[in-house]
Amino acid sequence: TNIMPAPAPKPWIMGIAPYTPGRSTTDDGRKVIKLSSNENPLGTSPAAKAAFDGADRTLERYPDAGAVELREALAAQYDLDPARVIYGTGSDEILHLVAGAYAGPGDEIIHVRYGFAVYEIATRRVGAEPVIVDDRDYATDVDAILAAVTERTRVVFVANPNNPTGTFTPRAEIARLHAGLPRSVLLVIDQAYAEYLSPEEDDAGLALAMTEANVLVTRTFSKIHGLAAERIGWGYACAPIIDAMHRIRAPFNVTTAGQAAAVAALADTGFVDATRAHNDTWRGWFVEQIGQMGNAGLRCVPSKANFVLVLFEGNLTADAAYHGLMEAGYIVRWLPSQGLPNALRITIGTEEETRGVTAALRDLVERA
Ligand code: PMP
Repeated sequence: TNIMPAPAPKPWIMGIAPYTPGRSTTDDGRKVIKLSSNENPLGTSPAAKAAFDGADRTLERYPDAGAVELREALAAQYDLDPARVIYGTGSDEILHLVAGAYAGPGDEIIHVRYGFAVYEIATRRVGAEPVIVDDRDYATDVDAILAAVTERTRVVFVANPNNPTGTFTPRAEIARLHAGLPRSVLLVIDQAYAEYLSPEEDDAGLALAMTEANVLVTRTFSKIHGLAAERIGWGYACAPIIDAMHRIRAPFNVTTAGQAAAVAALADTGFVDATRAHNDTWRGWFVEQIGQMGNAGLRCVPSKANFVLVLFEGNLTADAAYHGLMEAGYIVRWLPSQGLPNALRITIGTEEETRGVTAALRDLVERA
């Protein structure tokens, strides 16, 4: 029974579209292949799985609140100062921490319209105002961001590669964005998909965070490292920024087994390289196949990530394709609540999954 009326939440809460969790079965009970959350289709590094299985199983003690081994492993891998590494329950937590530490009522946080949905939520949660900037051809528009800066701007969130578009902002553009911002504005470069870039495509994020006092880079173990279930993200910035975020962080935010798995995952560069190579091959194949459906009005936004945003500009609508793919046994992401009613974001799966979802899409195109 519903006891009414319940206390009213803050007014902005009901303006946020609830996150709809992916389904695991179709209406008639068949298992669904999940291509909706940009997870690693090759699984997890066997070494990371072994470290997870072999981790200390003590249940009554909290995990290491300082994540010492994890920070040291990250520092060794990327040539960083371990004292300047922060870790979170997914990089999501770090995005919330930075908003919490740097913005509040009367302040503004800038992000692009076709950006990661958490930016707006993190902004509103702390009572700050999101300033939403239009993308240019689905890519981050540095000039538009710079034009949106006011004396109330505290933080700029930029994802590179960006989600849900998959677009990449080159190193020189990120440098130009940083150079154009006042030193009082914190530039957050969200690199959840950075490991999918080739080394030549380095976006300068970590290099900037090493030397600049107003840059925070965030990264995650959820994507290429295949540890999404354990919820581990990390960030790098100058010591005062890290200190500020630590002061409001939940103390024991990364599990013991998760820390162990992450350390082993970092060391298994072979698994990371194999995942990147797999993704390059099958993203390329997928984009080529969709390109052949171009006369049906399908178009891919150029992607450097482990997913592709497909635009539907012909007879077949994204809405119909979403439901048709679900019936065929594939769940992908349809984004009407993010202003993209004519697009589906499709994660690159295994060879079989990628061939399967492509065939299902071709079938829908032919019947539309
Ligand atoms: N940033 C971006 C751009 C993402 O796409 C995601 C995952 N959807 C995250 C951050 C957060 O991932 P996690 O909390 O699993 O680290």
